[in-house]
Amino acid sequence: MARIAYVNGRYAPINDPAIGIEDRGFQFADGVYEVWLVKGGVFQDHAGHMARLKRSLTELRIPMPMSEASLDIALAETLRRNRLNNALVYLQVTRGVAKRDHAFPASPVRPTIVITARPLSMAASEKRAETGIDVITRPDERWKRCDIKSVSLLPNVLAKQAARESGAYEAWLIDADGFITEGSSSNAWIVTPEGVLVTRKADHGILNGVTRLRIMRIAKSLGLSFEERAFSLEEALSAREAFISSASSLVMPVVRVDGRPIANGAPGSLASALREAYLAGAEA
Ligand code: PMP
Repeated sequence: MARIAYVNGRYAPINDPAIGIEDRGFQFADGVYEVWLVKGGVFQDHAGHMARLKRSLTELRIPMPMSEASLDIALAETLRRNRLNNALVYLQVTRGVAKRDHAFPASPVRPTIVITARPLSMAASEKRAETGIDVITRPDERWKRCDIKSVSLLPNVLAKQAARESGAYEAWLIDADGFITEGSSSNAWIVTPEGVLVTRKADHGILNGVTRLRIMRIAKSLGLSFEERAFSLEEALSAREAFISSASSLVMPVVRVDGRPIANGAPGSLASALREAYLAGAEA
């Protein structure tokens, strides 16, 4: 079955040429995006993703392209037309099409909206979670507004490619002070030897993951001790557990960093418990 994309009010086969050459998303990466996990036909953490979309757009002074209700319909309809139950739904909004000039268009243009959906195998994700993943580390070479979910992802792309080439699943990015900021497309977590759950504070240095916020709510409901603070590579290497979080990987245990095992090199019990709680719909 041909995959169907929503493009500016139309549903079209994904390979149809549909975006203007002078779209500012293409020319300048002048746009934002969101990715929803859809499980059993239900958009996970929908309100959190919508709130972050609005925030990203506001920070870049791109108008919300349509009402939230209309956007909800387009998201659901894209999922339906692709006949998917477990999926990743991708939404991109760019500033629109205008004669190429770095500054914003002098007169307002209509933002471009694209929605796509692709299948996500929960079985493959579960299998990966059973063994855990390897991460490598890379210097964080991104800009200073990583809190905006911008489509300008080149440093993330290069870090992820480096991970692939070394047989790892993710790259953790390290800031100038030696602290881990986050993964190339996920948030980073550790559990200290004392059992404290730690993830970096959501400042301009990281994307405030919707899954990260969900895990924080779950941790609170389970009465886990939790700290929002930076942690170094050294601290991660001596941690009891490590894991990443994102809409696409949920909670995914990290068992090696730069080839060095975390604890005994097996997925940790807290990471597995948080993953289970997430899958069971806790604090949704
Ligand atoms: N950080 C970065 C850089 C990401 O790209 C992502 C995934 N979009 C995340 C964190 C996790 O965010 P979320 O939990 O909302 O998917």
